[in-house]
Amino acid sequence: MAKVEQVSGIFDTILVLDFGSQYSHLITRRLREFNIYAEMLPCTQKISELSWKPKGVILSGGPYSVYAEDAPHVDHAVFDLNVPILGICYGMQELAWINGKQVARGEKREYGPATLNVLDKADALFNGVDHSIVWMSHGDKLNGLPTGFKTIATSDNSPYCGIAHESKPIYGIQFHPEVTHSTLGKTLLKNFAVDICKTEQNWTMENFIDTEIKRIRELVGPTAEVIGAVSGGVDSTVASKLMTEAIGDRFHAILVDNGVLRLNEAENVKKTLVEGLGINLTVVDAADEFLSNLKGVTDPEKKRKIIGNTFIHVFEREAEKIKPKDGQEIQYLLQGTLYPDVIESISFKGPSQTIKTHHNVGGLLENMKLKLIEPLRELFKDEVRHLGELLGISHELVWRHPFPGPGIAIRVLGEVTKKQVEIARKADYIYIEEIRKAGLYDKIAQAFACLLPVKSVGVMGDQRTYEQVIALRAIETTDFMTADWYPFEHAFLKKVASRIVNEVDGVARVTYDITSKPPATVEWE
Ligand code: GLN
Repeated sequence: MAKVEQVSGIFDTILVLDFGSQYSHLITRRLREFNIYAEMLPCTQKISELSWKPKGVILSGGPYSVYAEDAPHVDHAVFDLNVPILGICYGMQELAWINGKQVARGEKREYGPATLNVLDKADALFNGVDHSIVWMSHGDKLNGLPTGFKTIATSDNSPYCGIAHESKPIYGIQFHPEVTHSTLGKTLLKNFAVDICKTEQNWTMENFIDTEIKRIRELVGPTAEVIGAVSGGVDSTVASKLMTEAIGDRFHAILVDNGVLRLNEAENVKKTLVEGLGINLTVVDAADEFLSNLKGVTDPEKKRKIIGNTFIHVFEREAEKIKPKDGQEIQYLLQGTLYPDVIESISFKGPSQTIKTHHNVGGLLENMKLKLIEPLRELFKDEVRHLGELLGISHELVWRHPFPGPGIAIRVLGEVTKKQVEIARKADYIYIEEIRKAGLYDKIAQAFACLLPVKSVGVMGDQRTYEQVIALRAIETTDFMTADWYPFEHAFLKKVASRIVNEVDGVARVTYDITSKPPATVEWE
């Protein structure tokens, strides 16, 4: 795995050590919201292996009990950094465990809101947050003060709601400031990062562009070449634009037209990327190859595998053809990995949690002996969108709905043929066009049409028809983990259904999918 030490050496950084709380990434989020760069690493991180020095360290919450035999513990070298430390929930219990072992199971669990009562009003950590509501989520508690600490805040149920070291800037809080239920939690995190750690608030996308371009230039050097796949989606477009800004035509983008892209997609991507953004792009028409490999296949998992493998094959073949002017070999592969993928892959919780392989690109590295370059690996999705807008990428592209790698192949249920893809594509095009016209596109997280492998009887112009069925899907969600179907007006659905049946040959009926996730998934296959 590549090292996660890129931006952290350049921007003032708060290090978040993750003990496995479901909220850990929110700590990083909140800090970035007020322009402080924060990076999350597993709690088992060896401090001596960091190539940069954090301005402060936050120990997150976690599901374990510090006194349990297999509980995770922090590298004690963290205290030798001599920077401020804030322990949150498990993080505070860890501080207490290290300084006197006064932690045990509480008589009752505490979950939900509590009112914060600040004792030491002069302490910078609680500046402006006295009497606010804080969110609790714990079953263990401190039985007494850790050696060298004093109490600086209480709540009705927690006599040690906030503690601080007598002489060093080391703090512990029992509640979770990172969740929005803690009404002034963000202020508290800012107090810690800005006033106590003296971190500079310079994490802006404008600054990121400058430093990242510089970093890419240094990494790639004056002659090496980089290759990368683009899909027309926001991540690969933003990553490609950034590469182009950094090294110009030494970056080679490849769009593989697999025959199951959206209607007119290959042409549109070419126009946007080449004419609009000046990206050095090659479009490869491999539609026949993909469709012939998909012939006769109806199993969704098989379809996905075939598309992934064919992609690798085509991409490698095209990469071979790109011969840099000075006879250099291509050395790097660009990948649009985002921070949530990185967080997932560095989890300390064991192999089950590790790495979500984007097999499209994953297989390429082994075969091609390329080094990986991932300019978006520090960014959350909304940061990538912001970056895209700053790089001059259109609002429409930046806010595009996600599109699956296997494309329309998994939206044509049953066998994928050219004719079936055409039907699904046209229906999808009309549907999305109407959604845009109605001003609903940005309110919906994802919308698409599916072609079902069943036939149904209809009547058109007094003639009996016997044609297929289109199912429309539209969902609302914030994280795609759970989703609900979008409540369109009836008039809207009527209009779309009528247009699809009238304009798309081969469709006799349109239905609307009213299943949430769970139990259904977003895509049908
Ligand atoms: N597992 C610990 C407890 O129950 C810490 C919980 C947490 O960090 N949210 O007290």
